[in-house]
Amino acid sequence: MKQITTVRSSPAPHWVGDGFPVRTVISPRGGKALGPFVLMDFAGPFEFEPSDSPRGVETHPHKGFETVTIIFEGEVEHRDSVGNSGKIGPGDVQWMTAASGILHEEMHSKAFTAQGGVLEMAQIWVNLPAKNKTADPGYQSLLASDIPKVKLPDDLGSVGIVAGDYLGTKGAARTFTPINMWTVTIESAGEFVLPIPEGQLGGVYVREGAVRFGDEVVHATEIAEFPQNGAGLPAACDGPTSLIVLSGEPIDEPMVAHGPFVMNTSDEIREAILEFQSGRFGSIPARAHP
Ligand code: MN
Repeated sequence: MKQITTVRSSPAPHWVGDGFPVRTVISPRGGKALGPFVLMDFAGPFEFEPSDSPRGVETHPHKGFETVTIIFEGEVEHRDSVGNSGKIGPGDVQWMTAASGILHEEMHSKAFTAQGGVLEMAQIWVNLPAKNKTADPGYQSLLASDIPKVKLPDDLGSVGIVAGDYLGTKGAARTFTPINMWTVTIESAGEFVLPIPEGQLGGVYVREGAVRFGDEVVHATEIAEFPQNGAGLPAACDGPTSLIVLSGEPIDEPMVAHGPFVMNTSDEIREAILEFQSGRFGSIPARAHP
C-alpha cells in the first residue's frame, strides 16, 4: 500500500490576468515538480459581478508541456494559434498540448461575463519528455459526457476518469506518458482505496470536505503527496468531499520551467523566448465584435 509523505497547504491566491484568482498548489519553483505535474493552479470559488468587458488572459505562448483545465463552476473559452477553439463549463475538461509551441487565450465565456457568477476551476501543467516536446500542438475537448464515471463501492460516491485507468475503465484523454487524473466525489462517510499503481507518484488535492490517510487529516485547499512505492492508497472520509487525484510516472530528465515554457535546459528556454518573439508560434485571429 502507498502512504502519504507530505501534506502541504496552498498559498494565498494571486490573480492570473483579470479572470483567474488562483492558489498555486503545485509549483515548479526550485526546479521541483510532482512527478510529471509541473504546476497546478486552483482558481476560486470566486464570485464575479456581471460585466460587459472580457475577462481572462489574453494571447500568450506555451511550449514543452500540456495544460489541462478542469471546470467546476463557470464557463471558459479558449482560442489558439492552431485554429482550435472551444467553450467548457462545469464537468468539462480541456486538454491542450503545447509541445513544440502554441499561442492561446483563456477568457471567461461571453455569457458568463455578462451574467456574472461563481468561477471554480483547476489548471494542471503536465510535462512532456524531451522526445515529445517537439510534437505538434493539439487540443482535446473532453465534455462531461465524454468522461467515464465509475461508482465507488458501498454507494460512497463516484470517480470521473479524466485520464489514465481506474480499475479497468480507461480515461477520456490521450496522454504521452502514463498518467492518472481522477475527480473523486464522496457523498457519505466511509473508507475506500485509490487504486494508484506501483511506480506512480503524485498528490491528492482536497477541493471540498476532508480526507483521512491513516491518522493524517487533509483539509480543503491542501494537497497530500504520495511516493512511487506501494500500490493503492487507503483513504477515508467523514462526509461529502471532493478530490482531484493526480498520479504519474516521473519523467527522469532535467526540467527548466520559465514563465510559460517547460524545457530540459536553459538554452532551450532562451530558444523558446526567441521563437515566441519572432512569431514562430503563429497568431490568433482578432476576436469578432460582439
Ligand atoms: Mn495558458
